Amino acid sequence: MNSTDQQICMGAWDGPGVGPGAVAPPIYQTSLFTKPSFEEFVRQQAAEHENFVYSRGTNPTVAFLEERLALLEGGEAAKCFASGMGAIGAVFAGLLRGGDHVLFVNTVYGPTIELAQHLERFGVEHTILADPAAVDIEEHIRENTSLIYFESPGTMLMKVVDVPALTTVARRHGIRTVMDNTWSTPLFQKPLAAGVDLVVHSLTKYIGGHSDVIGGAVIGSQDTIRELFYQGHQLFGAVMSAMEASLVLRGLRTLPVRMEQHQRNALTVIDHLRAHPEVTAVHHPYIDHDPDEAVITSQFSGFSGLLSFELRDGTFTRVSRFIDALRLFRIGPSWGGYESLVTSPLRSTGAPAPELDGLIRLSVGLEGAQSQIEDLDRAFTSLAR
Ligand SMILES: *Cc1c(COP(=O)(O)O)cnc(C)c1O
Repeated sequence: MNSTDQQICMGAWDGPGVGPGAVAPPIYQTSLFTKPSFEEFVRQQAAEHENFVYSRGTNPTVAFLEERLALLEGGEAAKCFASGMGAIGAVFAGLLRGGDHVLFVNTVYGPTIELAQHLERFGVEHTILADPAAVDIEEHIRENTSLIYFESPGTMLMKVVDVPALTTVARRHGIRTVMDNTWSTPLFQKPLAAGVDLVVHSLTKYIGGHSDVIGGAVIGSQDTIRELFYQGHQLFGAVMSAMEASLVLRGLRTLPVRMEQHQRNALTVIDHLRAHPEVTAVHHPYIDHDPDEAVITSQFSGFSGLLSFELRDGTFTRVSRFIDALRLFRIGPSWGGYESLVTSPLRSTGAPAPELDGLIRLSVGLEGAQSQIEDLDRAFTSLAR
């Protein structure tokens, strides 16, 4: 984590209406902005991406957040959306056309894949390469491949992609790359510097951080963000409101201190899990973190608190008993908030894929690591009954 990033996160409002020296931006709770003359209105409306005309397009509170996010990711511009899926949907809708092929690399957030399946009816094809280390990505590139979409680490199994290697191949073929960087936040990984064209985020997770707001963002070049503004944002209307933006900005200010604490707690929990006889594997990039292991060391400057592990003899009954015995880790979807959460991809009818059998996912929150470990031990003890 570098100190410039920390400063960006805490940046005080210096926009219009600063009035008596407020450090938090005003919440511009307005749907539209009037202009002093019709000529001025016509001029600004012709370039709505850079003028405040109507809040479905741009809004000063949201724009302040977009500026912070672009700075943090090292991108020229950013656009915020009503949710992570709103952002991902806008990327697909804005950049793909019928006949295109999308390559998904690594395990990717479930609804993103469901959206790709939905796009088949519009003539957009896709291939999923779930194990990035086991395949030669270049072999799966087709003539009509126009986008490579990936996560690193990937959803649930947390496998890491060699990002510079992937972007080198993509550039050689003139294919755009999009990376979902929600897991690392811009503090622990900088995909644009590794040659990725567009970064997407669910702001709902660590960046919001308080489990009280849903939002998404896309960061990239000025040209691509403008393209997405007109074709993905304006037309599909998954708009972040000024109120939501102010909540995300509040989260952003404490992001650096929260991420340090998530990391500290997660590494303590990981060490504990790895030593436990009921655990057969732990999945988190830190596990593969060997100072000589160049890929991990060069890509991550820190590790967040979302991990998964495999329970020995991981039947639905045992996984349920373990999860139900937890008190501090609460059962629920989502992750990245202050509170510790637990879930599993396991369903009574069997896991969606055999390799997910016995898998339990933890979002290690901001409570003390000692309390988290005591809670996990209570659940392990319950298995012996
Ligand atoms: C939650 C999540 C999303 C979707 O974000 P929403 O804000 O819930 O729409 C996308 N990618 C990843 C990795 C996520 O965890």
